[in-house]
Amino acid sequence: MSQSNYKLDYDDSTGKDCPKCQHSMVMLRDYLSIEVNEGYTADDDDDSFRPRSFRPLSIIVRGIAHLTNQFFKNTVAPAAAKRAGDKRRIELKETLRVFPNTLICSHCKFLIRDK
Ligand SMILES: [Zn+2]
Ligand SMILES: [Zn+2]
Repeated sequence: MSQSNYKLDYDDSTGKDCPKCQHSMVMLRDYLSIEVNEGYTADDDDDSFRPRSFRPLSIIVRGIAHLTNQFFKNTVAPAAAKRAGDKRRIELKETLRVFPNTLICSHCKFLIRDK
């Protein structure tokens, strides 16, 4: 591969391409400031994983299946996604703290740590 020094001058990019997928890299700090607005349903869902009381009344068995399904769809999945997102964001913030000029691929999340 020849050393052509082409640059991609997107305004929001750093001019560097991801070594893995060739998408443009952005500053991690910019990426994190955008990520905050990514919109999880974040009410006080600390205890949202609490199972509903489970009564063996046949009339609600169907309802329970439905509720459980809805519960997972509406509560557990977003909460898990939020937790995973929070965890990842915490890790990224930690990386950013140690390597303030870290770049991240906006596409595959590949990191290039840089102080
Ligand atoms: Zn990519
Ligand atoms: Zn990439």
